[in-house]
Amino acid sequence: MQEKRIIVPTEEIARQRRVMAAVRAYAGPLGLRYHVLTFGCQMNDNDSEKLAGMLVEMGYAEADAPEDADLVVVNTCSVREHADGKFFGHLGILHSVREKKRPGMMIAVCGCLMRQAPVVDRIRKSHPFVDLVFGPSDLHRFPEMLRLRLTERRRVYDVGTEDTIAEGLPVLRASRTRARSTIMYGCDNFCTYCIVPHVRGRERSRPMALVLDELRALASDGYREVLLLGQNVNRYGMDTGDGDFAMLLEEVGRIPGLRRVRFMTSHPKDVSRRLLDVMRDSPNACPHLHLPLQSGSDAVLRRMNRGYDRTRFLQLVEEARDRIPDLAVTTDLIVGFPGETDRDFDDTLDVMDRIRFDNAFTFQFSPRPGTPAADMTDPVDPSVVTERFDRLVARQNEHMLAHHRRLVGTVQEVLVEGRDPGGIGRASGRTPHNRLLHFGVPVAGAGPSGILPEGTFARVLVTRVTTFTLEGEWKETLP
Ligand code: SF4
Repeated sequence: MQEKRIIVPTEEIARQRRVMAAVRAYAGPLGLRYHVLTFGCQMNDNDSEKLAGMLVEMGYAEADAPEDADLVVVNTCSVREHADGKFFGHLGILHSVREKKRPGMMIAVCGCLMRQAPVVDRIRKSHPFVDLVFGPSDLHRFPEMLRLRLTERRRVYDVGTEDTIAEGLPVLRASRTRARSTIMYGCDNFCTYCIVPHVRGRERSRPMALVLDELRALASDGYREVLLLGQNVNRYGMDTGDGDFAMLLEEVGRIPGLRRVRFMTSHPKDVSRRLLDVMRDSPNACPHLHLPLQSGSDAVLRRMNRGYDRTRFLQLVEEARDRIPDLAVTTDLIVGFPGETDRDFDDTLDVMDRIRFDNAFTFQFSPRPGTPAADMTDPVDPSVVTERFDRLVARQNEHMLAHHRRLVGTVQEVLVEGRDPGGIGRASGRTPHNRLLHFGVPVAGAGPSGILPEGTFARVLVTRVTTFTLEGEWKETLP
């Protein structure tokens, strides 16, 4: 498998950029518009930013809704439950929009669901209205495919099986102050419930020099925060010998103007002490570690093929908090994995009580076809799963509220994301721990436009809290 890993040559990217210019010459005068529908994780969001970047370079403008677009791109995710059923449902809706409101609208589909051969076969056989089909590793070839469709009226179904890295594509970022940067692709872990390694390919890291160049450019363009993305960022560089993630984070700490750096996801088995040291000493690494536990039971963790046990996880969080005392630790939890007993579930609640996570993404197990867990023969009764899930969510909510209550009366640094939809003279932003804070801004604190602009740093007094958010009052705007 590893020999399929391909770094797309710079000549090929240059060729695609020439294709973009050619498409622009053709499409630009027509005033064409695009709309991208994105499903799934932040890495898919980042891919959609690249699709949008290429489309703008090809002369397209963004449309707010599919019915206003000449081209709709559906960027799919196979991690979602019943992903294929939902995807074909969306295709049906788009087909109807095209038939009734927007004749001539082109439909392109991409993303990791396209790495599943039965899905592509079904599109080919039963959905001839789909114009372009390509996979997550084929993003850089999108301009060529679009050119063929526009000029030769050819439908293009072209899903590669290589695991590529493509540098130098244009990116249209969703935010002007917070940017995402995918530093590596794929995953080698093969957790038994997860489809990602089967559809996103083997682990492959971008060269460190290129990641740093991108981040420096973002900082000089005014971005204040970056989110480094990978399925398991702690394995960054392991495939290239080009430094490791701790080294990358240390280098990122030296980039002037980049005030905040976040990263996700960290696999607990691969977090090094050195990484924790770098987080502690870095001037811009946020005090936040997303560390998916999944289950607190050793038996379940073994069946999930997670590569750590509860003792190791508890020890890791203790070591992290020793170094960074105000560290926020968030997690992912799966309830009802096949064979999970009452005792296994109690073990999960026990780890939650010991750690008291700052936040958790909670899931009820559902099988993903093609994964080992889908063939496990000891499913948990759905009513038991629901009951356990409700208890787990209630426990997590208790912990979150307790964390938030301790913050009343403290002053938090906030990076403003925009206006609080809750009212005039209010703004919203995130603390370094990634907590959402809504706050009032007196006229004296607002900018010339009467609001605090996105990207401003402010100090805010926390006055009230709920389970999910903080509320407060502006104290001062920071330079
Ligand atoms: S670490 Fe496990 S859960 Fe995460 S992407 Fe890889 S296989 Fe999936």
